[in-house]
Amino acid sequence: MIHEDMICPFCGCLCDDLVIETEGTEVVRVDNACTLGSHKLMNAGTHRLKSPIMREGGAWRDARYEEAIEYAAGILLDADRPLLYGWSSTQGEAQGTGVSMAELLGGVIDSTTSVCHGPSILAIQEVGHPGCTLGQVKNRADLIVYWGCNPTEAHPRHMSRYTTYADGYFLENAFRDRKLILVDVRKTETASIADEFVQVKPGGDYAVLSALRAIVRGREDVVPPTVAGVTKEQLLRVAALCKEAKFGALFFGVGLTMSPGKYKNVRNAIELVDELSRHTKFTLTPLRGHYNVYGSNEVFTWMTGYPYAVDFSRQIAFYNPGETTAVDLMARKECDAALIVASDPGAHFPKKCLEHLASIPSVLIDPMHTMTTPLVRCQIPTAVTGMDAPGTAYRMDGVPIHVKKFMDLGYPTDTEIIGSIFEKVKEVRHP
Ligand code: SF4
Repeated sequence: MIHEDMICPFCGCLCDDLVIETEGTEVVRVDNACTLGSHKLMNAGTHRLKSPIMREGGAWRDARYEEAIEYAAGILLDADRPLLYGWSSTQGEAQGTGVSMAELLGGVIDSTTSVCHGPSILAIQEVGHPGCTLGQVKNRADLIVYWGCNPTEAHPRHMSRYTTYADGYFLENAFRDRKLILVDVRKTETASIADEFVQVKPGGDYAVLSALRAIVRGREDVVPPTVAGVTKEQLLRVAALCKEAKFGALFFGVGLTMSPGKYKNVRNAIELVDELSRHTKFTLTPLRGHYNVYGSNEVFTWMTGYPYAVDFSRQIAFYNPGETTAVDLMARKECDAALIVASDPGAHFPKKCLEHLASIPSVLIDPMHTMTTPLVRCQIPTAVTGMDAPGTAYRMDGVPIHVKKFMDLGYPTDTEIIGSIFEKVKEVRHP
């Protein structure tokens, strides 16, 4: 069976032009996806856990869904400071139920944002977001800046769908007419096709952004001969390219958000875009990783006023990244139960946090074994959004997209499982 216009549930590009061919419950062909998306979709039905698993006497045993749901509700109800973490590779509907449950439990809900683009959000909260849709970039931008990211490998179709190789309404030959600037600490594959590759010394992004701002402001006299390894000559060239563009779009990755300077780097980048917008049109967009991490920020924000790291222990929503973020709670050994949903802290969190996670009652909701599996006491497999579950996801530019399913393997969705846990919690907290 051929399924057209399918959405790729891998990265924040949420490519929506995939053609997937299935034979029964097997995917036999995927057209239009990149290697990352294709690999995920071609293996749609493989490596799945068959049923929930629970630890017993140091070994795993199979469990029924009812038993695992009962266990999950029990550990969350018994905890003084439950943590509900993850939420970036699941549907918006599950995220909303998670927020409601965290509120009723008086717990903390945090998404993977806190270990990727959290600093981008802090900067946006301070100085605003000069953003636009990817469609605007494709149709209008004649200059693209990638800063601290490597789209060729991390978002492989970003350039072919929206920037370097994507012809647009006002750019008929994008590869010839659209300029590309790459700013990074190392020469990646993206550098080989850039018109300007600006190699910054590690930790030098803030200084380079400040120098560019000074030049754009007409104060090149204050810029020294080199800034963080970049010559003044190149900075002048880059600033001129930006000012001469009719429409510039700056995309940035964790090379900017997680390097020294963190949210101040992003704030400086937004202020550079603001300076440039006095001469031309310029926009800025974070390159988001997990396919629905942007959705977690949207859903948390409409429901609580805050985009991640929301603490309900005061019976109102409280937000203070660095205090209420998952890594900080775990490092301080503060949370005493954890529900991990659609994310893999075992692969990303510091060792100290993982030691704490392994020492507390915890449940993982994820379709297959991950590096988090050995650290939890129970795992509940669910359907994968975009494969055997439909749902809502937000693209990296904030556009919500309905993600369709193309097969049925009989698994419950994340929304159903979290909804069932929430029902059990409500039975106790709202008798
Ligand atoms: S660029 Fe991202 S969304 Fe598009 S096919 Fe590749 S992994 Fe999937």
